[in-house]
Amino acid sequence: MVLTALSKNVSVSCAADVRLAADRQATTTSSRGRTDVTASTKVIHAGTLLADASQGPERQQSVLIEGERIKAVSPGFIDPPAGASLIDLRDKFVLAGLIDCHVHLMAQFGPKLRLQTVEDSDPKTGFNAAHHAALTLAAGFTTVRDVGAIGNPEVIFALRGAIAERKVAGPRVLCVGAVISPTGGHGQTYGYRHDVCACVQSASGRCDGADDCRRAVRRQVSHGADAIKFVATGGVLSDIKAGVDQQFIREEIQAIVDTAHALGRRVSAHAHGTAGINAALEAGVDSIEHGSFMDDRSIELFLKNGAFHVPTIIAGVTVLEMAAGGSGLSEAQAAKARTVGLKIKEALARSYKAGVAIAFGTDMGVGPHGQNAREFRLMTEAGMSAPDAIKAATVTAAKLLDISDDAGTIAPGKSADIVAVDASPLEDITVLERMRFVMARGDVYRHGGSQP
Ligand SMILES: [Zn+2]
Repeated sequence: MVLTALSKNVSVSCAADVRLAADRQATTTSSRGRTDVTASTKVIHAGTLLADASQGPERQQSVLIEGERIKAVSPGFIDPPAGASLIDLRDKFVLAGLIDCHVHLMAQFGPKLRLQTVEDSDPKTGFNAAHHAALTLAAGFTTVRDVGAIGNPEVIFALRGAIAERKVAGPRVLCVGAVISPTGGHGQTYGYRHDVCACVQSASGRCDGADDCRRAVRRQVSHGADAIKFVATGGVLSDIKAGVDQQFIREEIQAIVDTAHALGRRVSAHAHGTAGINAALEAGVDSIEHGSFMDDRSIELFLKNGAFHVPTIIAGVTVLEMAAGGSGLSEAQAAKARTVGLKIKEALARSYKAGVAIAFGTDMGVGPHGQNAREFRLMTEAGMSAPDAIKAATVTAAKLLDISDDAGTIAPGKSADIVAVDASPLEDITVLERMRFVMARGDVYRHGGSQP
């Protein structure tokens, strides 16, 4: 049985009003318990359509959608077939659903997080994560890769499933499960008593030595991870004075990368310090997250291996603001925030200029969920052109996540992940911060309304 969602054109005034697709599924249950599902066909009339960010936009286009897939893209405004609904976006700029390759849906950093981490049950964390997912979707992000959090990774697996089954509104989620990290490494230490830490932090990703690292990767895959993430270097928000340099040794990194690849998983490395970035790239990692202190050797390796850079500039800006504003960072965290802070933007300027593949990521969870599109402005400030910044969040992000068959462009056969804004983001990238229309997998989640 195939469930085909039939969504109507709903108007939502804010993200909190995002409707559940399940509410709108046109299903009828007969007295014998059999479920008949009405297929839905929709036609979007797009004033301007950027179907593929590698190419230019076209005026006056129609997109035919059947169920959750795009059936056709045609020039002009075609009449909807009988029974189909028309979505009028003739005064809008329409583009493919945005993709964020680096979020943490289970967390929202702020003064309360330390206490929340030990107070909140897994179900509470799950509801928080669902709320963050709804905010992200309302902002036009129809796919995210969740790259781990403090707490029980089962929560994100459950949320991924609930969204895929249309029980909860959210972007398509790909997730890594627990982050692979050495004892005392980034993501393992938050300044709690050791016994408290053991309660709140999954040990599933902790490993030391090549064999143990292989085991940790296999464990994530067996739990359902779509991709693998490991920490090649220290990180800002771990409460430990261990800097942001290399943490895993070469043999461990190689074991992680090789095992992930053998199991068909893309592998990403959290990396700030130069040695860690280069060790990860030498081992064949698919993406470097942050990349703050990349050097000429890093650029050479990126280009040689076709690895992606996921900058997350907004995370650097956010932690720098926290360090300046006395918003609960410990001395160890604040010192690292000041070290990394603006370096990420400089790193993007460098990698972009050199022609490295750039995939969009924000590290939201550090910054506020739902404000992901603020990264675009920072990317252009680092020297990226607006079309390239949009390409990073569509075509290139889909390539990194290995979902180009489904997402990244508006083309026949792909998932109907389509968003719209009031004006051309090619001229003013910040219009993406004011999303007007969001369709994910054929369902309309937002039509009109203001951004929260
Ligand atoms: Zn992160």
